[in-house]
Amino acid sequence: MDANVNGSKIMAASGVTLPESQQVLVRKRKVADENTERSPLKDRKMNINETVVNGNKNLSQRSRLPQPSLKRMKLNTTVDNTDLAVKKFGSSNVTFSAASTISKIASTRPSIGVRSQYGAGLAKTVQGVGTRSRPMNCAATVTGTIGKKPRVAVTAPTSVETAGAGSKRRPAWDLKGQLSDMKVQLGNMRTRMSEYTSKLEVSEVHSKQLQDSVYQRDKQLEIASSQIEELQSNLKAMELLLKNREVELEKCRAENSAMQGVLENKLKLTETELALKVACIEEQKSTIASLRDVIVDREERLHLTEQERRRLHNTVQELKGNIRVICRVRPVLDSEKEGCGEIEHVQFSHDDDKVITLTKKEESHIGRDRKGEVKYDFSFDHVFQPMAKQKDVFEDISQLLQSALDGYNVCIFAYGQTGSGKTFTMEGPDDMTPENMGMIPRAVDQIFATAEKLKTMGWTYKFTASFLEIYNETLRDLLVTKPEKNVEYEIKRLNNKSEQLHVTNLKYVTVTAEDQVHNLIAIAKANRSVAKTAANDRSSRSHSVFQLMIEGNNSNRDLQCTSTLSLVDLAGSERLDKSHSKGDRLREAQAINTSLSCLGHVIMSLSNKESHIPYRNSKLTYLLQNSLGGNSKTLMFVNVSPLEENFSESLNSLRFASKVNECVIGTAQLNRK
Ligand code: ADP
Ligand code: MG
Repeated sequence: MDANVNGSKIMAASGVTLPESQQVLVRKRKVADENTERSPLKDRKMNINETVVNGNKNLSQRSRLPQPSLKRMKLNTTVDNTDLAVKKFGSSNVTFSAASTISKIASTRPSIGVRSQYGAGLAKTVQGVGTRSRPMNCAATVTGTIGKKPRVAVTAPTSVETAGAGSKRRPAWDLKGQLSDMKVQLGNMRTRMSEYTSKLEVSEVHSKQLQDSVYQRDKQLEIASSQIEELQSNLKAMELLLKNREVELEKCRAENSAMQGVLENKLKLTETELALKVACIEEQKSTIASLRDVIVDREERLHLTEQERRRLHNTVQELKGNIRVICRVRPVLDSEKEGCGEIEHVQFSHDDDKVITLTKKEESHIGRDRKGEVKYDFSFDHVFQPMAKQKDVFEDISQLLQSALDGYNVCIFAYGQTGSGKTFTMEGPDDMTPENMGMIPRAVDQIFATAEKLKTMGWTYKFTASFLEIYNETLRDLLVTKPEKNVEYEIKRLNNKSEQLHVTNLKYVTVTAEDQVHNLIAIAKANRSVAKTAANDRSSRSHSVFQLMIEGNNSNRDLQCTSTLSLVDLAGSERLDKSHSKGDRLREAQAINTSLSCLGHVIMSLSNKESHIPYRNSKLTYLLQNSLGGNSKTLMFVNVSPLEENFSESLNSLRFASKVNECVIGTAQLNRK
């Protein structure tokens, strides 16, 4: 056990601040000692006295000379020594002196050695005197003798004591004298004995107190030792823990540094990548800048190319003629096939899709058997045979639609007798599919698609649609299902300055997508068929006019263009037998004839470059004024029935169309602002 630790523990324990439990223990001990051990001390005193007396007796028995016994010698030694201690500190300071002594011993190593060296003999001495068998500690007796051998004052009997106080040796015969000397000696000895005894008592008490104190200290020492042991084991555990923690810390440090290395590497890589990317971005920025220049250049060139395309396109259209005629012969319908053999009176050329020949077998004037054949040849811009599909026919008009978007008025109309396929060609059949869609829905689709493409060149378009019917020289809005009564539709100029015409009270619908237009066409078709049942197939005796107003704007270059696309399904061109027609029918026939012949006259007048063009002679020509002639491109479908019974009507239609085809209408003007 560490002496220092031990010593300091004892110091703390034996000082004024003893732990409560131990203070209680000490107090108890003191009380017990006072109660129980006082009597043995007295007994001891008695014993000593007895011993002395006995010794005396023995002495007197063995020899006349007083002989101090060994026991007495030892006792003297102890008493003197103890007396020293008591004298030095006083009885009230016993605890303190003991403690300070112990602390001195404790602080002066080795304490155990000192104890065993100097305390053992002393303890023995005390043991011999006292009654307690408890092992004694030397702490109390070695006060002030640390590191030195204790001075032991042995008081040997003086000559005076042995020979009597101040008397000479008596002669042998002076027995009386000797006896009186011895009595004196005995008296002295008794006095001294009683002094010794009282001194011994004090020493006893002191010794006991010291022993108790030492015992307490031992106890405390034990407790302290066990605490120290416990603390040491705790310390060891803590040290172990600390070691483990240090190992862990070391591990963590190693991991940390490894991680740091990895992160640093990553950071370096990322920084390199970043630098590369920044460089790349810079490069791309410069590329973008140069590409922008290229784009601006290309846009300029594109614009010029577009202008050139428009000019060339128009030149081509002009070369084709500003009024074009396309002939279309419809197929024989399933319902008509019975009793109808091969179609012989309508012939087509194998290698020329521009010609059509009507042939008629005429009875010979010479004899009944020999029949002559009359041929009527016609040539148009294109002749479509019965098997031609809607999309094939549409190809021929699609170029005109481009002209409409480029700012030219375009008018497409279908001419022919009732049942020749005008409505089929312009709108499509009642059971419409994408394949058999007519020219109007196809034209609308293409116009919207082309307008979308022109957006990339800065062009934006506004479209306004209207759909009307002209019957008996009166106008009707086909987009209104239930027209208000007495609504007047009048064809007027928008204003005095404008050449643009409009119809009062007519529904003009702004459309932004083809589907909207398809819906309008469906509404018009439905309104026409209602009228059909109510007024006995009025549709065949009326003209239907679909118009799409196109307004183009190129804000980049401050360009605007306006145009009107008119798609007209004309009334049947058949000639009514006037002799058999009466009333309404007669008026209808006259009206149809008037408007159709007016149309013919207008075209002829334009072709002949007459100063006056009779547009106002019919509602149809007045409405189409801006779409026929000077400023427009016109296309006429001449629809022909394949049936032999319709031969003469087909011939009439082809003759009229041929006349129109021969017309050369003046160069179209671009509606540019
Ligand atoms: P119109 O309008 O000139 O009076 P329609 O367009 O109503 O004539 O045509 C009469 C009939 O012939 C309709 O049943 C129509 O579906 C059919 N028809 C017309 N042209 C074709 C064609 N090219 N292919 C198939 N059927 C056609
Ligand atoms: Mg029709």
